[in-house]
Amino acid sequence: MLKILILDIYPSDNWRLVKDTAGGYGTGNNFGTNYLGKIMNFFVGKTISMPPMSALYIYSILKQKKILVKYTKKIEQIKNISDYDFVVMPSSIIAHETEVSALKKLTNLGVKVFIIGIFANVKKEAYQMKNSFVIPGEPETFFLENDLDNLNKFFNNEGRSYFGKPFVANLDDLPFPSWDEYIKDYSLKNNFLSFNNKDAIPIVATRGCPYSCFHYCTYPLQQGRSVRFRSVNNVVNEIKHWVKLLSAKKFVFRDPVFSINRKYTVALCEEIIKQGLKIEFLIETHLNNLDDELINLLFRAGLRLIYIGVEFADNGVLKDNKRFTIEKDSQYQIIKKLEKKGIMVKSMFMLANPEDNEQTTMDTIKYSNLLPNQLVQFSVFTPYPGTPAFKQFENDIVVNKMEEFNQYNLVYKHKIFNEQLLNKYKQIAYKNFYFDIKKLYIVFKTFVSIFRK
Ligand code: SF4
Repeated sequence: MLKILILDIYPSDNWRLVKDTAGGYGTGNNFGTNYLGKIMNFFVGKTISMPPMSALYIYSILKQKKILVKYTKKIEQIKNISDYDFVVMPSSIIAHETEVSALKKLTNLGVKVFIIGIFANVKKEAYQMKNSFVIPGEPETFFLENDLDNLNKFFNNEGRSYFGKPFVANLDDLPFPSWDEYIKDYSLKNNFLSFNNKDAIPIVATRGCPYSCFHYCTYPLQQGRSVRFRSVNNVVNEIKHWVKLLSAKKFVFRDPVFSINRKYTVALCEEIIKQGLKIEFLIETHLNNLDDELINLLFRAGLRLIYIGVEFADNGVLKDNKRFTIEKDSQYQIIKKLEKKGIMVKSMFMLANPEDNEQTTMDTIKYSNLLPNQLVQFSVFTPYPGTPAFKQFENDIVVNKMEEFNQYNLVYKHKIFNEQLLNKYKQIAYKNFYFDIKKLYIVFKTFVSIFRK
């Protein structure tokens, strides 16, 4: 029987590293080495954890095809890697050097490795070796459509020119990711949402984003600019499956813009309500895609935490980043409605944008505190390889490792900010927001959740 190992490796950093965020490039929450930074690294590292979803989709596809498959994050736990016919390695920017170094060792030993993920597609030259094959586009189709008894051909001339299909055409063709297998060894956590449930099940209803921020954002690069939808029944059946199998109550929707299609969102929420599913879930969306009626419906279906990208307060910075948004007053009103409804809001902001200066940065920090959101996140503008923004700044990159592109470091030469000045503002931003008596209860409850599992 064919044996395949999914090897999902990470550098040994002391903070949360997730490959599934930032359109599959991944992010790492390194809040810094000072006292507050270390506490936050520990805190976030203990409360959020999930693997790349495509790795678990592939796990399920292989299992369905009666292949012996194992997922691991720890290569050292594999006693004899040559027992496996093939290795599948998820790629990312946040673990790039670690992945490439392991890949060199494995392929030199004669192990045949398939590399999956958008980052290996963008940086193909770094991952393509004698015994490796970078799967083009979304990798699930490759394993669904190819004859798995003939995988060796991808390591010789016959299969090298395979282009496949860039995107999964019908998302309903995918089996449910094998979370039941995954949680035997690893945790699935997102403890900002609720404090009593042990597993937060990642789930996706749509893939793709048509918005103009593809200038710097990698989701459209990974998933395309047209939106693909799973059928409502397929999504609800998956929810019911995990409720039954794992007694799951908490779901984390991984769609780039969950409520991008109002009609679809309404149908999905109504079906969840109709089926009497007592679940709570988290989504990420754009404020433009929310209104009173939809907020009420989302709440009734179980929405309890929402991530929204506000990004910057200054209009010039917004325009430079080609970020479409709604008026500030409307931002306030919608967030207020969410808060009144009992839906927690995490607003996401971006610092050190090309047009930022100290004044615009302070404006963003103050704005984060004016909005009625309960949680905030400040990341750093990152010109990712493969995006138009990278072309603009590729000669100004100041870091030597791709792994430093974690959305928390300044990786390009900014006209005003350096790492030290930026760190000063990151500290001001987080202290300003979370060291506020009104927010301390959230910090405390989330801290308690660390010890629940
Ligand atoms: S709305 Fe913008 S930032 Fe969000 S996923 Fe789409 S392109 Fe990316």
